[in-house]
Amino acid sequence: MDTTSLPGKELAAAINADTKQRAAALAEQGAAPRLALVVANDDPASAWYVKSLNRAAERNGITCENVDLGVDATIEQIRAKLTELSEDASVDAIMLQTPLPKGVNLDDVSSAIAATKDVDGVSPLSLGLLASGLPTFPPATAEAVVELAKFHAIPLAGRHVAVVGRSNIVGKPLAQLLLAENATVTVCHSRTTDLPAVTSAADVVVAAVGRAGLIKAAHVRDGATVIDVGTNEDDNGNITGDVDAPSVTGKAAALSPVPGGVGPVTTALLMRHVVDAAQSARA
Ligand code: NDP
Repeated sequence: MDTTSLPGKELAAAINADTKQRAAALAEQGAAPRLALVVANDDPASAWYVKSLNRAAERNGITCENVDLGVDATIEQIRAKLTELSEDASVDAIMLQTPLPKGVNLDDVSSAIAATKDVDGVSPLSLGLLASGLPTFPPATAEAVVELAKFHAIPLAGRHVAVVGRSNIVGKPLAQLLLAENATVTVCHSRTTDLPAVTSAADVVVAAVGRAGLIKAAHVRDGATVIDVGTNEDDNGNITGDVDAPSVTGKAAALSPVPGGVGPVTTALLMRHVVDAAQSARA
């Protein structure tokens, strides 16, 4: 069987074109949408991501301010800054980068981000609103999986989707978004017994694990769609997915590439959320 690729660049470009236009309209009415990126680490991967978000914001006409709290920032300091930014009317959107300082968990601080500015849906309130089917910003990566499937006309309604990974930022919100699309959802994790048996019963497999090449041919039934969220760095510094692409190719009907699949759509959706937040705040 031929395995079709599910690239994300064309979809990302279409989202960005719309975002750029809406950001320009907001700038004409007063001020460009403004995103605050809060960092409290010296992690090179995070620094790279912050740079790429800065570039994406600039390309879309969004003002991006990096707020560096340093690697020793405490829970109180991070919460205080997030509260200040949440109350600052000139800030439309807030993103908190991970990793956080030693001893600080995302749950300790994320609730200080106002839900209306929580453009990557990290706070417990955002996740709760999503689970309740109420308006909120879903985490962009989870939303990107659904948008990528829709763009490539992969049906979800009534189909069995196995999500591998149950983090609050990808697996769990993705399960909620898939339920909203009327999919039948199975969420797998490190304690799932016989993962290949579970995932190979699904029409669509989404890998969001963080283990390079974990999903192989045995995890996938003939003709299934496989969406790879994983971003793992190999020994040569290249980004690879959670799916063993050569193993799955020829068995799956479709596979999203890494890089160039979910990643660019995620960034584009984040920028769209910033403009959505700005538009709501100024309505
Ligand atoms: P986490 O480490 O928070 O969660 C990983 C999940 O995978 C956990 O639920 C864990 O189970 C599960 N898991 C670990 N090992 C296995 C295994 N052997 N079998 C089955 N399940 C397993 O990661 P994230 O959710 O933050 O990220 C997942 C991946 O997505 C990473 O590669 C990350 O880099 C990538 N990512 C990509 C983004 C993008 O824009 N493309 C953005 C965000 C993340 P348990 O709960 O039992 O521990």
